[in-house]
Amino acid sequence: MPKMLPTIVRNLFGGPATRLYPVEVRKPFERTRGHIVFDDEKCTLCGGCARRCPAAAIEIDKEKKELIFYPGRCIICEVCAENCPRGAITVKEEWRKPFYEVPVEVHHPKGKKEKAS
Ligand code: SF4
Ligand code: SF4
Repeated sequence: MPKMLPTIVRNLFGGPATRLYPVEVRKPFERTRGHIVFDDEKCTLCGGCARRCPAAAIEIDKEKKELIFYPGRCIICEVCAENCPRGAITVKEEWRKPFYEVPVEVHHPKGKKEKAS
């Protein structure tokens, strides 16, 4: 008992060891790879991100002019963001909320290709 006493006192008067998630959300660490977002105004549907993605999380439908993103496959490796020639992909620090159904994002990019001079 004497050995346990300090622990008991510490637990009685100390604060909680955990947060009341989701009411209290921890601020993400700097450079946390939380999730990626696409900027449809910048994207030109070049397909570079889809070709490089190791998780096949991005598909390009040239006919429909769509970029399809599967967040559930994404491992947030950042390869797409580092290689996008238009800077159309950004890595956000906040974690994506858990999902109950397989999410699919369909984007309709509007970025214009620069004309070769
Ligand atoms: S997000 Fe970037 S790399 Fe991917 S298709 Fe659009 S412009 Fe190309
Ligand atoms: S962060 Fe990595 S896994 Fe996710 S879409 Fe980009 S390249 Fe694919």
